[in-house]
Amino acid sequence: MQMINDYSFAGKKAIVRVDFNVPLNKETFEVTDDTRIRGALPTINKILSDGGSAILMSHLGRPKAGPDKKASLKHVIPALSKNLGGKEIKFADDCMQAKQLADALKPGEVLLLENLRFYEEEEGKPRLADDASEEEKAAGKARVKESQKKFVATLASYANVYVNDAFGTAHRAHASTALIANHFDEKNKMFGFLINSELEAMDKVIRSNDKPKTAIMGGAKVSDKIQIISRLLPTIDNLIIGGGMTYTFIKAQGGKIGNSLCEEDKLDLALEILKKAKEHNVKVYIPTDAINADKFDANANTGKSKTNETPDGWMGLDIADETIATFTKVIKESKTILWNGPMGVFEMDKFSAGTSAIAKALAEATANGAFTLIGGGDSVAAINKNKLADKVSYVSTGGGAMLEYMEGKVLPGIKAIRGE
Ligand code: AMP
Repeated sequence: MQMINDYSFAGKKAIVRVDFNVPLNKETFEVTDDTRIRGALPTINKILSDGGSAILMSHLGRPKAGPDKKASLKHVIPALSKNLGGKEIKFADDCMQAKQLADALKPGEVLLLENLRFYEEEEGKPRLADDASEEEKAAGKARVKESQKKFVATLASYANVYVNDAFGTAHRAHASTALIANHFDEKNKMFGFLINSELEAMDKVIRSNDKPKTAIMGGAKVSDKIQIISRLLPTIDNLIIGGGMTYTFIKAQGGKIGNSLCEEDKLDLALEILKKAKEHNVKVYIPTDAINADKFDANANTGKSKTNETPDGWMGLDIADETIATFTKVIKESKTILWNGPMGVFEMDKFSAGTSAIAKALAEATANGAFTLIGGGDSVAAINKNKLADKVSYVSTGGGAMLEYMEGKVLPGIKAIRGE
């Protein structure tokens, strides 16, 4: 597999799939958080400083019916230019009409293509009326499959080399994340620095023998996390459970959970996880006390109880002090840690203390030499809210992609380049 570090882009035109799916101010369309743009800089800078030119392509938002001003990548130009030291960014208003601009690019220049998802060919899904018949759906699918070939070939025709640096969409088999790679030979397709560091961080957690190894799984549902938990059980020492899924475990063990979130059809699954954990000698930590609310509301009345004695009419929305103390101790004693999913409804101030405490414990563990990987939109938001992003080892840019990789699934965007 070609490594970007060993490649010289001198005199080459590189088409780079970046993830510029950034949040925009709804009125002014200014970029409100440029983290994803900054994530692509090492790759862009390497191409330019080698003496190559960069053709950047991305999606933005979810335009469902062709060009849409709100989702134009034009809005990204000022933030991108600023991050590249004021560099001029050339722009192609239509990603399918960029050949002339691409051909005219000189070494050191940057061309940004308009949103790929203005074309249905990017995702390969036909855009149909809600009431489309089965025949119309089948015809639409066949049509897009055919026109997608031209779409991919056109993008590939702009460049001599393809770089994928969009980890956030690596789990999608889209034109720009997977199919385009077929148009380049082994030596002229590669991951960018961002994808490389994401893979390195995840592989480190999966393969590391630095023990104790701890997985912290929070968030709303057991069903979303079951596959990653199953995959990790043979390799971890501790499993910390938090968030809404706590109560499926508590109820499965006969506890009283009041109105707390519970997946009634997953009670057996929760017991199965506990059994499997025992077989693998994994210690499972389930919250023992909670901050309860009388309704799911930022201004709800609050109280505290054991998680298995939640009063009728109340619901557990955060972990409380005894649990925080137990979890913090386990985290601080760990050497390899994966965290995915909040410990409570951290979006509401009254129920955010548990998640913040875990974020702080991770920062302390990192300072003590642990390798800490944080992934999933909500845990990343919690780390950012606590201003701890630079105090942990790695913060993943891809929630869904990270979960799928850690579950052992083959990601189309990864397979297209390294073959697995
Ligand atoms: P996920 O996307 O599965 O990681 O879930 C994240 C969501 O779970 C966040 O929006 C949290 O507000 C929510 N959540 C966390 N703890 C609880 C809880 N105890 N009850 C209900 N929702 C929760």
